[in-house]
Amino acid sequence: MSRQQPVNLPRYHRTYSSTSVKVQAIQVHPSSFTKMHMLGKGDVGRVYLVKQKGTNKLFAMKVLAKREMVKRNKIKRALAEQEILSTSNHPFIVTLYHSFQSQDYLYFVMEYCMGGEFFRALQGRPGRCLEEEGARLYAAEVVSALEYLHLHGFIYRDLKPENILLHQSGHIMLTDFDLSKGCSSPEAPGIVKAHLPHLPPYIDTRRCVHNLQTNSFVGTEEYIAPEVIKGRGHNFSVDWWTLGILIYEMLYGTTPFKGLNRNDTFGRILEKEVTFKDQPAPYAQVPSSSCRHLIRKLLHKDHNKRLGSRAGACDIKAHAFFKPLNFALLRHQVPPIVPLMQKPDGSDGINFKKLAAESISLDLEADRTMVNVQMTDKAKPGHNPFAGFSSITLQHDDESDFSDT
Ligand code: AMP
Repeated sequence: MSRQQPVNLPRYHRTYSSTSVKVQAIQVHPSSFTKMHMLGKGDVGRVYLVKQKGTNKLFAMKVLAKREMVKRNKIKRALAEQEILSTSNHPFIVTLYHSFQSQDYLYFVMEYCMGGEFFRALQGRPGRCLEEEGARLYAAEVVSALEYLHLHGFIYRDLKPENILLHQSGHIMLTDFDLSKGCSSPEAPGIVKAHLPHLPPYIDTRRCVHNLQTNSFVGTEEYIAPEVIKGRGHNFSVDWWTLGILIYEMLYGTTPFKGLNRNDTFGRILEKEVTFKDQPAPYAQVPSSSCRHLIRKLLHKDHNKRLGSRAGACDIKAHAFFKPLNFALLRHQVPPIVPLMQKPDGSDGINFKKLAAESISLDLEADRTMVNVQMTDKAKPGHNPFAGFSSITLQHDDESDFSDT
């Protein structure tokens, strides 16, 4: 895949401030949008590129079929995803603009990440990998997004290149929160004194998620942490394990414990230590010692000794590998992958796989929003399991940055 400089690159302003988001009663309905084409398929839903009538703004609309969700027991996951997306406001987490439901579907109207999947972009690189400097920037952006999620009491649990999208600027956007898990009452973060007197104190995000222990066997085969395979409970440290795998994959184009089959992979995850050979051509060299050290520390089999287990993201941010970067200025760095765009608004979808036509087509014109979904007693027949899915519009201060050209 060849990569060209985009035309008319829009300004990239996203802030961390939660006060820049206003939650309002739902302002749109399915027929406020025109479907352009399908961008991707998930487990129980589809994601479409849509254009809002009147404003001509482009969005990614994720549509989940309620019937499928009930059948496959995925309701809780959609509710968790809505909770995370509607409470997050971070430059490296995909922005939610509206969520609503109809009789048959749940809808998420999100920012359109026109660079497509990071996984696909990586596959199109020489050697299917990145130079260490590029991997460092993307790893730092992921750390920043995970830190934010932990701070808000969520663990992500499914980090992998397929769940990272590229913004038109080439910066990353974390997406797909259906495996994430939230604390019912997260503790406030702590403050940790820096080890050197001239450095500012760190924020301890471990405290926000350390009560969250879970047993469910979730994740993606090559990214699963040893404690998840053992099934004796896991916590926020799984996110730091998956970060180690991701950095390795960015450098080598493959994961470190990939086996011949699932059992072989799990055996390697439990037993083998990570090893470092030369990166594939064109880089063809062993990563630096600080990079190898970081990966080893993140891939510690004992999650109590893993980097990040002491005070959370600040342990990782303080590692020597990240010394060349200033975490407060990540958005101002030039990313190593800048998505190709033929049309400045990305409506051609050239960074997405061409998908076969749908067998059952969703008709946005005919679907009607249900706003007041009644909360009924869970135990009673007629209880609506989707009552917790709120119909809201989130107004972001920076909306004008993404207006149609
Ligand atoms: P998901 O169901 O969230 O895993 O999404 C399925 C696929 O849809 C992803 O792998 C992407 O290719 C695409 N997709 C999801 N969200 C977006 C978005 N905000 N912008 C562009 N494409 C998206």
